[in-house]
Amino acid sequence: MKRLLIFGSILLTLAAGSVQAQPLPVQVSIAPQKYFVEKIAGPLAVVGVLVPPGADAHVFEPKPSQMVQLAKARVFFSIGFPWETNWLPKITASNSGLQVVAMDRDVPRIPMPAHHHEDGDGDHEKISPDAEHKDGDKPGEDHEAESGLDPHVWLSPSRVRIMAGHVLTTLKNLDPAHALVYEENHRRFMDEIQALDQDLKTVLGPFKGQSFLVYHPAWGYLADDYGLKQVAVEVEGKEPKPAQLAEMIDHAKEAGIRMIFAQPQMSPKSAQVIAQAVGGRVVMGDPMAEDWAGNLRRMAQQISGKQP
Ligand SMILES: [Zn+2]
Repeated sequence: MKRLLIFGSILLTLAAGSVQAQPLPVQVSIAPQKYFVEKIAGPLAVVGVLVPPGADAHVFEPKPSQMVQLAKARVFFSIGFPWETNWLPKITASNSGLQVVAMDRDVPRIPMPAHHHEDGDGDHEKISPDAEHKDGDKPGEDHEAESGLDPHVWLSPSRVRIMAGHVLTTLKNLDPAHALVYEENHRRFMDEIQALDQDLKTVLGPFKGQSFLVYHPAWGYLADDYGLKQVAVEVEGKEPKPAQLAEMIDHAKEAGIRMIFAQPQMSPKSAQVIAQAVGGRVVMGDPMAEDWAGNLRRMAQQISGKQP
């Protein structure tokens, strides 16, 4: 009888061991989503990111090697880019066991801001629909305009709370044996978001109602959460032409804009020129940064002038 019990407990130990042997293969579209999933899954998942650093997240196409990776994944978290919808049938056809979860489900959306096209020649306004997929360098506006809604939902702590809830539910369903671990990690992540939100409110509070100038309007949700105003001037390529730059300076002066948001995908040099001309400052931030919370905190410090 004793021997049977020992044998039984060895079997149980083996079974428990096999549950946590393989981390869940998870795929996401962009790096900040990796941050969210890893906060809740910890080492229980391996998270692959589709859009590489520096690539245009609006007009992305997965490479064949990434399709192979997707074929091995248990779950794919989409975030609401139109290209995801185009690729989903191909992605699910290559892996019938793949669960697709819209991380941005039930996330309140805001419309894309009105754009100032300052260059006047209007060339890029006349894009024929069939030309859209041929030019990878084209800014994503034409695609975003399809829905008229701003796709940059991950740059809002209040919206990330909702997205984290979907991650928790999905992981618990896929791996019920670790439900308690996921719940505990999720609770900690909620605390982290709470602290971040409190810090941003404190630091950004005095700047409520102020406008910032951007090339690419990625920060609409951050503005929405903390009472700032985003003024977008879409520039094609990295560098605005001298005439564009002059008009941006005029516009910033007229509107009393003292903050210029630059991102690694754009040239910080011209942002610096504008900031100097209006007596304001450049705020460096990367909408695609994997260090999501750290990036937002650093931006808030720059807005407040407490960090160069
Ligand atoms: Zn964007």
